[in-house]
Order: sequence, then C-alpha cells, then structure tokens
Amino acid sequence: MTTLTAEVNRKAVKAPVKSMMDNVMEQFGSAAEQIDLHPNIKKILSITNNEIIVNFPVKMDNGNVEVFTGYRVQHNNALGPYKGGLRYHPTVDIDAARALAMWMTWKTSLAGLPFGGGKGGIKLDPSKYSQTELERITRRFTYALADNIGPEHDIPAPDVNTNSQTMAWMADTYMSTRPPAERTANQHVVTGKPAGSGGLEGRDRATGYGVYLSIKFWAEKHDKSLNGKKIIVQGFGNVGYWAAYFLEKDGAKLVAVQDAYGSIQNQKGISVEDLYNYIQINDGSIADFPKARPIEKTMFFTLNCDICIPAALGNQITEENAPRIKARLIAEGANGPTSVEGEKILLERGINIIPDILCNSGGVVGSYFEWLQNRNGELWQLDEVMGKLDKKLKESFEKVYSYAEREGMDMRTAAYCLAIERIEKANKQRGIFP
Ligand code: NAD
Repeated sequence: MTTLTAEVNRKAVKAPVKSMMDNVMEQFGSAAEQIDLHPNIKKILSITNNEIIVNFPVKMDNGNVEVFTGYRVQHNNALGPYKGGLRYHPTVDIDAARALAMWMTWKTSLAGLPFGGGKGGIKLDPSKYSQTELERITRRFTYALADNIGPEHDIPAPDVNTNSQTMAWMADTYMSTRPPAERTANQHVVTGKPAGSGGLEGRDRATGYGVYLSIKFWAEKHDKSLNGKKIIVQGFGNVGYWAAYFLEKDGAKLVAVQDAYGSIQNQKGISVEDLYNYIQINDGSIADFPKARPIEKTMFFTLNCDICIPAALGNQITEENAPRIKARLIAEGANGPTSVEGEKILLERGINIIPDILCNSGGVVGSYFEWLQNRNGELWQLDEVMGKLDKKLKESFEKVYSYAEREGMDMRTAAYCLAIERIEKANKQRGIFP
C-alpha cells in the first residue's frame, strides 16, 4: 500500500486536456479572490491532506487472479471526518479522485455539516464482472483501505456504479475486522447502506429529491411553475431517476434521456415509471426504449427543453456544446458536469446554473442523517427524513441565492464563497500545529 502526502507536484500529472482538477482549481481560485482568502489558508486548501492508492488481488470466478487499483483521497477535515463517495468506473484515477474530494469539502461545508471532503473508487468497468466478483472486489478493497477509513475518520458512500449493496458489503467487511465488542459501534463507517442494515429510509432518493427541490426553489424565485416544463436528463441512475421522478410528480415532462448505452427523445413525454421498468429488464440500459426514438449522442444537450439535468459524469457541458444549449436552467445533479469554459458561455447567454455543490447536496445531507441515526442508535421514519431534508436544503438554497443576489455574482461562485469562508474560519480558530 502506498500512502502519499499531498505534496504532489500537480504539474507533473497535469493532463494536456483540461481535467476535472483544473476545473475545480479554477473555480476555487476565483472564489478565493472574491472573498480575499488568506494566502496561508489558500495554500492548505489547494492541496489534498492524504492520498491513498491500493493495489489488491482478487480471485475471479474462473479461478484467475486480477489485480485492481483503488483510490481514496482525503482533501480536508477542518470541519469533521472526511466524507464522500466511492466510484467504480474506468475513468477513476488520482486526478479525478482529487477533484471530487475537493468538491466534497466545499459541499459538506456549504451544507453546514460537521464533515470534510473525501472521494475515491476503483478503476474498473463493473459491467464486466459478476455480482460475486464485485462482492469480492469490494470486500478486498475495504480490507486494503483498512484504518484509512473509519466512522469518525473517513466515511465513504455510494457514487457512480456503487449502491446500497456495495455499502452493505463494505460495512460488513469493516465491522468483521474489528474486535467483536466494537463491531456494531462501527456501523456508520459507510452511509448509503440498505434500510434493513442500518441505512436511512429515503437515502436512495435523497440526492434526486434535492435536485428536484433546488429546481423548485429556483422556479419559485423566478415566479415560474414546473407544470409542463420540459426536462432532459443525462444519466438515469440513482440521481437522474429520482430527480425525474419528483419533477414529473410536480407536472414537468421528461422529453429526453441519455445514459452510457444510448440517447432517446420523445417531445410528447417519456413516462419515468415506464422507462424505469424498462431498464430493469434491459440490463440497466435505456437503449431501444420502445416509447421514444433514438438520437445522435452529440445532439443530446442541444435538444429542445426548459431544464437540463446532467446526472452522470464530469465535464459533459463544455465550450463545444454550451453555445447550442436551449435549456434556460442547468441543474447539476452530477459532480463537475460543466467545464469552466462551458459555464462562461452559459452565463453570457443568460442561462442559470444551480451548481453541483448545492444542487446534489441532498445525498450528503441524507448521509449525515444516516450517520447520526447509527451513532445515536435511532431509526427515523421516511416522512421525518424527507421533512428534515426539505428544511436543510431550503436553508442552503436561500443562503446561496441571497449571497449571489447581494454580491452580484453567479450561484456557483456564491456557493464556493460561503463554503470556503466557513472552512477559513475553522482553520483560523484552530491555528496550525505545532
Ligand atoms: P449511477 O451509477 O446510479 O448512475 C449513473 C448513470 O450515468 C447511469 O444511468 C449510467 O448509464 C450513466 N452514464 C455513465 N456514463 C455515461 C456517459 N458517458 N454518458 C451518459 N450517461 C452515462 O450513479 P449516480 O449515483 O446516479 O451518480 C450520478 C452522478 O451524481 C455522479 O456524478 C455522482 O458523483 C453524482 N452524485 C451522486 C450522489 C448519490 O447520492 N448517488 C450524490 C451526489 C452526487
């Protein structure tokens, strides 16, 4: 196992094409300038605290052994334990993990939670492995991470291609490696577990519900109704599905969807439930959905609609497609879906963006509730969870919206300013050891 401190020369690993890390650093830089961030705090926040890379062997179903590479990047813990998801995807690497970990620091701070930011995952395409192989991969990864995670230290959660089952395997493995009397007390080492195994009722829908609420709050500010509004959603997984589900309930119309397997459109409307039922019998793919027609992949973001919800991967809205986007509102369900250049074009064109660290923060707020529930030995009901989510997200939205109005800035910069100010304050209060 290699544990690297953050003194990594970023220039040495900088890709020729702009990476997510370049984006997050540019966004951080402009917010730091706005709030006149102290240069010492800027130095601390510009770099990650710890970077853990593990290479671990796993027995495949056919008896062969494969070696996988897993990552966990811990960006900052000034406000509390590191918190953030684990992603299973071929694009996972140290640069992506760093950027995503940094976004988590801003997100937990903005949401007013007692958490810092972390992120990680395994570089693999899960569709190439059986369930039993994925279980062994997950358990061995958890074992390899060992004490680099922990319920009061670093608390992973689901992300792209990981889910409540993945978290149940992780919790079970971590708890099994503790002394018997301490096992149950470690249940909150991960969040996003199944409701029957210490998970929170409603955690599955928390992120998508938060995306929906952010759009609703934005619409209220602009005296608009969601009724009849056309939405397009990239990614029909946990976040995309639940966001579409709640928006449809409020009268909006899903007119196009794109996932890893295809892109479909029906301007008369696509039933969220029908599409959901279809992917259950189609290996999780929207391709060939009979009640819509397939469209060219590159056309997707330029389709006719009112609201666009990127809910898949990073860097999807760029200077390439931003000039042709028709939506009036981009609600970032995914982390980092809009490049800095793409955003400049959108803002110049008067298109509003609800930034990821606000828009998809329902997930980490739900995770915080789960963590509290486990820590306190409680079981919360679904309506209680949804009510608390509503309240917390409303507070965050109001904070960001009024800051942006007052300072005459876009919502992303406002969200960053608020998040960074809170961390700066904690850092100043605590000082630097020794
Ligand atoms: P998921 O694995 O449940 O779904 C991902 C979806 O994206 C799938 O439909 C997949 O087919 C699609 N996809 C993958 N590659 C694609 C590509 N190249 N083009 C188009 N679609 C593609 O993942 P999720 O949990 O819904 O996460 C989606 C995004 O939301 C990620 O950026 C994640 O970091 C972010 N997010 C998730 C949560 C959460 O609680 N799950 C919380 C905050 C942010």
